[in-house]
Amino acid sequence: MSFEVNVRKVVPYVPGEQPNRPNMIKLNTNECPYPPAPAVKEALAKLESADMRLYPDPTADLLLQALSDVYHMPKNQIFVGVGSDDVLAMAFLTFFNSDKPILFPDVTYSFYDVWADLFRIPYKTCALDEKFKLCVEDYKQPNGGIVFPNPNAPTGVLESLKDVEEIVAANPDVVVIVDEAYVDFGGTSALSLVDKYENLLVVQTFSKSRALAGMRIGYAFGSTKLIGYLNDAKFSFNSYTMNRPSLMAGAACVRSVDYFEEITAKIIATREWTKAELAKLGFTFPDSYTNFIFATHKSVPAEEIYMALREQDIFVRYFKKPRIDNYLRITIGTDEQMQVLIEFLKKYLNNR
Ligand SMILES: *Cc1c(COP(=O)(O)O)cnc(C)c1O
Repeated sequence: MSFEVNVRKVVPYVPGEQPNRPNMIKLNTNECPYPPAPAVKEALAKLESADMRLYPDPTADLLLQALSDVYHMPKNQIFVGVGSDDVLAMAFLTFFNSDKPILFPDVTYSFYDVWADLFRIPYKTCALDEKFKLCVEDYKQPNGGIVFPNPNAPTGVLESLKDVEEIVAANPDVVVIVDEAYVDFGGTSALSLVDKYENLLVVQTFSKSRALAGMRIGYAFGSTKLIGYLNDAKFSFNSYTMNRPSLMAGAACVRSVDYFEEITAKIIATREWTKAELAKLGFTFPDSYTNFIFATHKSVPAEEIYMALREQDIFVRYFKKPRIDNYLRITIGTDEQMQVLIEFLKKYLNNR
């Protein structure tokens, strides 16, 4: 016997690596290649010693107010956290308490099964079809809750709002979480359904489309009931999740609507160019509605391409997992970065 019998043992989530090479091209964790809105730096320049000495506002009102104004949602229907990972973890803890399994896709964000294990939530995965689409009927079986990203990661596949609504409507007795980390790159948010379905939680993040991955800001929209329960859990766990710099940066960021629209449009344009170039090189991929492309090559194994790119300090994501171990997830960078990637791939594939 040892103390270890009583330890809560978990197999942790493995985040994408954060290499730091001088001239690297980092296309492996879906960050934004552009700087955050100029107003963010201006806000942080106003940081005073009191902002460090004193506790932050536990209600995070500065950020809630900005989100409320921009998304036209009342503050009591918005929850914020330390990245959407924090928001999602809190939502799992709060809403997934059934003996029945929660449901999520077999190919999806690899944090879901980790949280389920951590919180001892039973779960069952539902296989995506051969085009990596959800099968709506799978989500009509008895369950303790549902979570899926839309668009999905790492596939980039977008489900229609109609299918999302069908899943939410078929499950009034459980909470359905739609993880919209990538919705700003051409998807349709389920935000419009929040007032129609009390069991729907829509989660978004500042990490991808708003260029603030390093500040750790995520948020969720839901019914006043759901948001109330989330706040009760949060205030039972850590009242001060959001630090003052994040509140200031986040509020300034979300109010910079024009800049946000400009950079997301640029990323979408670069993505469409990259799709055409990859296709010319013999890659295929499900059509992406995100800031990444999930690509497989007709003759060269993904792992080999991944290693060859690494040697050039071009980092993409490779998952050695069932169904997807011949795919690369390539984040959309700047036009220049994608040109370097494509030029290298052209040479590499020609000389093999
Ligand atoms: C990136 C990502 C998140 C988490 O992002 P945060 O940086 O914690 O906000 C959540 N879900 C999916 C599907 C993601 O890809």
